[in-house]
Parts: sequence; structure tokens; C-alpha cells
Amino acid sequence: MAKTVIALHPLRGLPIPPDASVRGQAGPLVDPRGRGLRDLRISVTDRCNFRCTYCMPREVFDAGYEFLPHGEILTFEEIVRMARVFRGLGTEKIRLTGGEPLLRKDIERLVAMLREALPDVDLTLTTNGSALKAKARALKASGLDRVTVSLDSLDDATFRAMNDADFPVAKVLEGIDAAAAAGLAPIKINMVVRRGVNDHQVVDMARHFRGTGHIVRYIEFMDVGSTNGWRMEEVVPSAEVAYHISERFPIEPLERGYSSEVAERWRYRDGAGEFGVISSVTHAFCSTCSRARLSTDGQLFTCLFAQRGYDLKSMMRGGKGDEEIAAAVAAIWRRRDDRYSEIRTAETAHARKIEMSYIGG
Ligand code: SAM
Repeated sequence: MAKTVIALHPLRGLPIPPDASVRGQAGPLVDPRGRGLRDLRISVTDRCNFRCTYCMPREVFDAGYEFLPHGEILTFEEIVRMARVFRGLGTEKIRLTGGEPLLRKDIERLVAMLREALPDVDLTLTTNGSALKAKARALKASGLDRVTVSLDSLDDATFRAMNDADFPVAKVLEGIDAAAAAGLAPIKINMVVRRGVNDHQVVDMARHFRGTGHIVRYIEFMDVGSTNGWRMEEVVPSAEVAYHISERFPIEPLERGYSSEVAERWRYRDGAGEFGVISSVTHAFCSTCSRARLSTDGQLFTCLFAQRGYDLKSMMRGGKGDEEIAAAVAAIWRRRDDRYSEIRTAETAHARKIEMSYIGG
């Protein structure tokens, strides 16, 4: 029944480049385009309880789909070890994601282990919110700084259809409230905008979250993976999103928080807060991309749209030391030339790419 696995998981990792000593390289680690390794996203599970049509369509991720076997998944100890290695190479921010990270058993224990190992790292998590009400306090107590919650519509019928798990909006809103009460703020709310599906909800979303301190981020529908039936016609350009909001509420642009921030920020001129737009299709931000991704089974990807990764798990399980793994990651980063969104074409959009649930969204 392994009908889809081969298409969706990389067959084999890329060869690790010949050893390059981390020591002896002067200055901070940057790739040939001058981009540092500032952010690490870690997919802690490739499983999810939602079947969002644009991410894990039910026709593919069905009862016959083979998720990674337990033994292939990085252990908490291995994740912490990799986080330490990346911290040593300049990583300042770690995001736990998936799949749905709150489905990983004892996720709060992993958060606590990461916090203990890396007291000064910015530690965040992206979730669909379904288990957030139950977990928010424990996550905060374990040392999580903030959460991003995905919510594609406030209209219950639209949301249930998009998550394709019949999950109600009200429960996600309860999760957001619990996260706010626990102090996991500022909370970001991710909305993937798809023309003809939920674009009629853009202004309602802005209205609902204005004045709450939460920051809605409108994301252009991306051609990640190769199963979501992406079509350019379904992408709603961020400029259009901002225009519609400005018709209802006066807004003005804000400076980016830091140079590699993905969202372009806008503030409401009446002081009711801000929202962001993530224009990965219409306004590529490859030139400042400082993100690495560690898949559920420990492969390093240097681009969300990559086709193959580098097998760090084999290095760990094969007995390599931290210095050796750090040297390999540094060598990979120094050769990194990814700029997929700058060179996207109709052909690349339909090429075989790794699924987001596995690589980490
Ligand atoms: N399960 C968690 C969640 O729902 O937030 C974390 C994983 S999910 C893959 C991370 C983010 O990626 C979500 O905000 C989701 O909406 C976004 N995403 C997934 N597929 C996408 C696509 N094709 N285009 C744009 N964003 C996408």
C-alpha cells in the first residue's frame, strides 16, 4: 500500500559535501548570497489531524498513506542535539512545526528540553490550534515563547471544508484565547488565501482580530509539494489583500521587524494593531531567506521548495560528533544557492517537490 510514499519523501539524501572545518573560517556563516543561518524550522511529526486541501489533500493522505515509521523519526534527544549544533552556527530562532506539532506525544517535554539547552533562543511553534486549549499553559510553562495559529476562515462552513476534517472555527478560537491567557503572545494567525475559496473572508478576519493584539498574516497560496493542485489563478496577490483591507480600514506600511522577516507589515492608522502579508509568489523574498528546515526524519533542507535534503540523522546515528555535523551543515550552507521563488515557472510549479507536512511548514 506504499502507493504515494516514494513520490512524496526523498528517495535518498544528497551527499554531504566534503568536510569543511567550521574553525578556521573567519566571520559569521553565510551562503554565497550573504544569507545567514538565522532560523531553524523543525518538523516534529509528519502527521496531522486536518486534511487541509492545499497542504495534505485527503485523496493522497488517506488511510493507505504510509507516514514515517516511529524508528525513522528523530528522538527528542536528537532534536535537541541538532538545535544545539545550529545554535552554534548562528541560529537565533527555532520554530517547531509539522504536520501538527501538538500531535507529537509529550511535545511540552521537548519544549522544556530545548529551553534548558538553549536558554536564549527564540522558541516558537506553528499549530492548527485544535489542541491548543488543552496544551497552551503547559507549553508556556515549559518555556515556549510564542505561537502561530493557522486559521483560514471565520466562516464555519468555509473553515470546515478547507480543513476537510469538519473541525469548527470555535475550537480554534478557544485555543487562541487559551494561548493569549497563557502569555504565548504576540499570537500570529496564518490565513492562506485561495481565490474563490476563502478570499471573501479577508476583511472579516481583519475586523475580528483588530484591537486584540493578535497579528493576522495573509499568506499567498504556494506551490509547495506536488499534491495540492496549485494553480496561479488561485493565488490572491498580497497587494490585492492589502487593498481590500484598506478600503475598509485606513492602513499604512510599517518597517520590517528584522531584515529576513517574511511578512510585509501594515498598521491600522487608528491604532488597532497590525497585520502582515506574505507574498511568497508575487514578491519573492529569497534574497533575505535565512531559514533551514529539519524534516521529521532528520534531513536538512535549505529551501521550502527543495527536492532533496541532506541526511543528518544518518550522521548522528552513524556516530559522528557534533563538531563534524556542524562542519557538514556549515559546508552545506556555504554552498547554498536556493532562490526557488525568484525563478518559479509553470514547469517548476508542477515539478516533484517535498511535501510541507514532512519538511516542516
Ligand atoms: N499543522 C500546523 C498548522 O496548521 O499550522 C503546522 C504545519 S502547516 C504545514 C504550517 C503552515 O503552512 C500553516 O499556516 C499552513 O496554512 C501553511 N501552508 C500549508 N500549505 C500551504 C500552501 N500550499 N501555501 C501556503 N501556505 C501553506
